[in-house]
Amino acid sequence: MRLSQMLFVTLREDPAEAEIPSHKLLLRAGYIRRIASGVYAYLPLMWRVLQKVSKIVREEMNATGAMECLLPQLQPADLWRESGRWDTYTKAEGIMFSLVDRQEREMGLGPTHEEVITAIARDMIRSYRQLPLNLYQIQTKFRDEIRPRFGLMRGREFIMKDAYSFHPDEESLKQTYQDMHHAYSNILRRCGLKFRAVDADSGAIGGSGSQEFMVLADAGEDEILYTDDGKYAANVEKAVSLPPDSSPSPFKTYEKRETPGTETIEKMCSFLKCSPTCVVKNVLYQAIYDNGMVVLVLVSIRGDQDVNDVKLQNELTRLAERYGAKTILSLVVPDPTEQEKWAAKPLPLGYIAPNLPDSYIRPAQPQPLGAKAISQVAPKFLRMVDKTAVDLKNFATGANEAGYHVVGANWGKEFDLPELVVDVRKAKVGDRALHDPSQILESARGIEIGHIFQLGAKYSKAMGATYTNEQGEEMPLVMGCYGVGVSRLAQAAVEQSFDKDGIIWPVAIAPYQAIVIIPNINDVEQVKAAETLYTELNHAGIETLLDDRDERAGVKFKDADLIGIPYRIVTGKALKEGKVEVVERASKETQELPLVEVIPTLKQWIEK
Ligand code: ATP
Ligand code: MG
Repeated sequence: MRLSQMLFVTLREDPAEAEIPSHKLLLRAGYIRRIASGVYAYLPLMWRVLQKVSKIVREEMNATGAMECLLPQLQPADLWRESGRWDTYTKAEGIMFSLVDRQEREMGLGPTHEEVITAIARDMIRSYRQLPLNLYQIQTKFRDEIRPRFGLMRGREFIMKDAYSFHPDEESLKQTYQDMHHAYSNILRRCGLKFRAVDADSGAIGGSGSQEFMVLADAGEDEILYTDDGKYAANVEKAVSLPPDSSPSPFKTYEKRETPGTETIEKMCSFLKCSPTCVVKNVLYQAIYDNGMVVLVLVSIRGDQDVNDVKLQNELTRLAERYGAKTILSLVVPDPTEQEKWAAKPLPLGYIAPNLPDSYIRPAQPQPLGAKAISQVAPKFLRMVDKTAVDLKNFATGANEAGYHVVGANWGKEFDLPELVVDVRKAKVGDRALHDPSQILESARGIEIGHIFQLGAKYSKAMGATYTNEQGEEMPLVMGCYGVGVSRLAQAAVEQSFDKDGIIWPVAIAPYQAIVIIPNINDVEQVKAAETLYTELNHAGIETLLDDRDERAGVKFKDADLIGIPYRIVTGKALKEGKVEVVERASKETQELPLVEVIPTLKQWIEK
């Protein structure tokens, strides 16, 4: 392709809308244009990158025996009602774009395709003889993200490869899951990315496991905890570890102490001269279930530890039935406005004890006849204690009174141990690893590129997708699902590989492998040599651009660096000796090669 004939516009300045390097560079180099929040046009250079990524994804999917298909993006609400996800996706999380068609039917734009594929499996899979089966597609997904940002990293319209597998049993699922793990590793390796597969949260669905593929980059939204021996890596949402040992308590007897202005653990510990490991901290959460029930949750945890919201949310989902609900819609630490909705009197924030009286919750008001009940508030705190706080002796904690704490307290004496003992603590960098306590958890940032998931029978049970096994019994299909963010991957590659001058594409996914630059288009010799090289390189299968624009040489070199084409060939001064200058983008290494050696040399480099 000739740059003179391309829609080729680069920017010298960083665009104000971009925060991270890859987003800035893709905009500046003319790969993408923002059309609306989280909605981007993929311009010709970007589209070539995306097609290269897709090709690698396809080859690796096909190698596992998966079959490509294309499912509708426009999906009927009824299917999502069958799985129970319509309200959560359109109202609670609100991630699904929905609409009403001219026949007054509700529809949604697919954020994911479990419902559609399960409906197809329900209709078409009858017997164990048709299993296992793995179908995938590469397609635009729509998600009304709360915070679209970082360009293609978190878009509201983006390209995903999603695959769904169907199995007679867990063992068959595990086999395909392993194959997909292998395929995902190949995809990322072939795209030239540094990555790590980590244990991931499967949400409350349970399932036997899930892993995320993280591309390592400082701008990553996810935190990964791992050990140096390579035996453990997990998303912090899921990570487990051994907490540090607690120090012996300096308090011998139970008493209430005046501790003015000590509403944080730090201030309290410095005032009481004790370690935070001798403190029971009580954190108040407000959960709202899908039936509108508001539950106030009091979590008691050791003072030096923090609550992992994802683990807590999973616990609360398991408890949904207690409140006549199925799932949880929101979980927050209630701010003063939220507190006002249910608190009978001001809460002793910063001084809460595990036995904060239920009388802090305003009793239900009798509803006027015919009035629709707004949300209902559970009349008692849901109290739980994290494992880190269970064995503490003579601990310090709040006194349920502003400016006061109690010390020397014990479970079973001054406080009842909550009946719910849970593991909701957040693993931290510096903690000891479970598999080997001599290993210390380290932390890195990652961009989630892929997620593989053993779903089990959640969707098949909800939607009645069954098959007949060898014994003639009707069984629910066992499912797996597997996603790769194709557009996110492409941008992540830039985030991992750039310098002050621009993008450095890994050769495998670069839009073009080489660019021939004519420094002076008024020089007939230069033009002739460049045209010949351009034609021959393309013939030889090396995808090559020709910068034949009427621009200064300096501008052309800058642009070539910015768009990140792996090899640059310049028909300049050395032409007199029958040579051209060849520059490798990544290392900026320059050599002069005789014209006849250009193609074989580049071929060799590209294959390497
Ligand atoms: P995240 O936690 O980043 O929102 P997710 O858990 O919602 O991701 P999945 O539903 O597992 O993601 O989707 C599969 C893959 O699709 C992700 O691993 C990611 O690479 C990509 N992806 C998800 N949401 C977006 C988005 N808004 N923009 C671009 N890619 C996305
Ligand atoms: Mg998401």
